[in-house]
Parts: sequence; structure tokens; C-alpha cells
Amino acid sequence: MRKISLANLDALFAAIAAEETLYLPQDTEKGAVYAEWCEGATLSNALNTVRSPKDFFFPQTENLMDFKVEGKSIEIIDTRKECEDFVIFGVRACDVRSFEVLDRVFLSEPVDTYYKNRRDHGVIISMACTRPAETCFCQTFGIDAAAPEGDIVCHKTEDTLYLDAKTEKGETLLARLSALTEECDTSAVEAQQALIRERMAKLPLANLSASDFGADKTMEFFNRPEWKELSQSCLGCGTCTFVCPTCQCYDIKDFDTGHGIKRFRCWDSCMYSEFTRMAHGNNRLTQVERFRQRFMHKLVYYPTNNDGLFSCVGCGRCLAKCPINMNIVKVMKTLGGKDNG
Ligand code: SF4
Ligand code: SF4
Repeated sequence: MRKISLANLDALFAAIAAEETLYLPQDTEKGAVYAEWCEGATLSNALNTVRSPKDFFFPQTENLMDFKVEGKSIEIIDTRKECEDFVIFGVRACDVRSFEVLDRVFLSEPVDTYYKNRRDHGVIISMACTRPAETCFCQTFGIDAAAPEGDIVCHKTEDTLYLDAKTEKGETLLARLSALTEECDTSAVEAQQALIRERMAKLPLANLSASDFGADKTMEFFNRPEWKELSQSCLGCGTCTFVCPTCQCYDIKDFDTGHGIKRFRCWDSCMYSEFTRMAHGNNRLTQVERFRQRFMHKLVYYPTNNDGLFSCVGCGRCLAKCPINMNIVKVMKTLGGKDNG
């Protein structure tokens, strides 16, 4: 394990940014967002960024390819640029887990090479959560906010940043920063971890359990009458899906520029009425069906297809952002029993 005084954080960021593009959470009027580091930029103290770091690997819009059409001939133009290495600093434990959820979708056969390219080039420096929020419930899904995963795992105390490399990528980067950091023991980090776990245990959602949900429970939940009331006020705005680090639905559309065709991939939302529309029409005609799809996917379908792994990481973004104050916790409490949590 290595450490550096917080007073030297800018030097650390400058050293990383000298060779790789560095992104870190920075405060804006609209909340914390990931932005490229440049001299004078300050690391946000916010717990969560408004949008999750999934954008780095699965951007909201991307140009997949272009087509040049001349008469009856079509030329396919590969618009991909080889990614350069980049570093994402300060990723929380819940958001790091979300990458595993996305990996299982985009890296399973056939591999999404756009996503893989970015995953291969990204280095994740995670950050333990010293002050978890009342909306946090990552522990429901077995995530430890005091011990995130990542290429390098950081703990920040009042005056020091501790860095622990966990992968080959992390070791390579930390070795490059060795002149700025010094070797240290793990005692300060262990003390902080104990404090974080104590704080997590006192959170309002500390006892929320996912044990009622999981793989192969479709028939237990699909026809439950509670879906109707739960979804009654849902506006179908899609906010919950856009802030969610694990939502991965997209649409592909072609745009005629007048000189050729540009093919784009854009995020989509299962909460939208036109989602899954096919030649014959739409399979999910009502908001109840769309609403049920989102939560069944997080709590039942995804775990069924992915060795029991849930596709919610308890980041709490949908709790904070839904305009009608509906969220996955309310769904879990209603369907999983009133005593849950
Ligand atoms: S469903 Fe809500 S709490 Fe769960 S990962 Fe998505 S935004 Fe976070
Ligand atoms: S649950 Fe809330 S955020 Fe999600 S689509 Fe419905 S109203 Fe919008």
C-alpha cells in the first residue's frame, strides 16, 4: 500500500494526466460530474456523480459507422478511433460493481468491440465511501462501500490518500507514481474501514434484503397485483434508467446526412412507450408492463441469466431523481414483504 498527503493531490493528478487522460468527479451547478482533469481542477467531495461512470464505456450516443452510397454501391466506413488509455479516478464501490453487470452483457459472445475497446483502455481508481448517504443500499447486493473493487483502491482520510493496487494495470500505474507516494502499512485504512462499516450499519436502508428476489423467481412475481398500484403514477420519463449505472438498453438509428448515412447507437429506456416496438406493434402496451419489466430485469431476469448477480448496485440515484418518488426500494419493500428493511 502507498500513501500521499492530500496537499500533494494536484501533483498526483498532474503526474497521471501527463501520460493518460484523467477524469475525476468535479462540482458543477448541476451536481458532481466526471470531467477531464486540468490544472486547477478540484476533486468533488460529493458521494455520487449525477450520471454514473458507465458513460466512459457505454456512452449515451456514439457513431458506430458510416455508409457512403453511390448508385447501387455501398461503402462501409469504420468510424472507430483506437482508444487511448485513460484513468477514471474516484469511482465508488457501487459504480465499480456496475461495470461487472455491463461486462456480462457487452463482453459475452458476440463481444461488443466498441465497449471492449474502451474497457481495455480504462484504468479504474476507486474510492471508499467515508460518508455514505441515506439513499445508499449497496450492502443489499453484497457490495462493501469500505472495500471497493478497482485497479487501484483508494481511501481518503482528513489529510492522506491511501492507494492499493489490485490488478496489473493498477500496479503499472502506481509504480509510475512511486516518486510521489510512499510505502505505508494498512492500519489507517483498516481503522477507516471499521468506521465506514459502522456508518453503513446505521443507514435507513441497512436492513433491506434482496433474498426474496433472484434467479428463477419469475412466476413468483410476474403476475403480482401490486405492480398496478406501484406503477400508477409512473410518468414513463426514463430518468431512472438514464441515471442508472447498470441500465444498458439502446437503440440504433441511421441518419441521412444528404451525402451518406451515419449510424448512431443511443441509450434507450424500457420505460418508454416506443421501446421494443416491432413491425407488428409493441409487446408492452401499458406503463404497468414497462414498469414491471424494469424492476423484474434488475431483480429476477438478470440474476436468472447471470449466476444470481443482481443488476441493481444500490447506488441510490433513482431514489434521488425520480420525479414521483418511486424507486426500486419501494418495489422491493412492497413485493418482498412489508418487513423488508
Ligand atoms: S436501480 Fe436505482 S439504485 Fe439500483 S443501480 Fe439503478 S439507479 Fe442505482
Ligand atoms: S419510475 Fe420515476 S424516474 Fe422512472 S420512468 Fe417512472 S416516473 Fe420516471
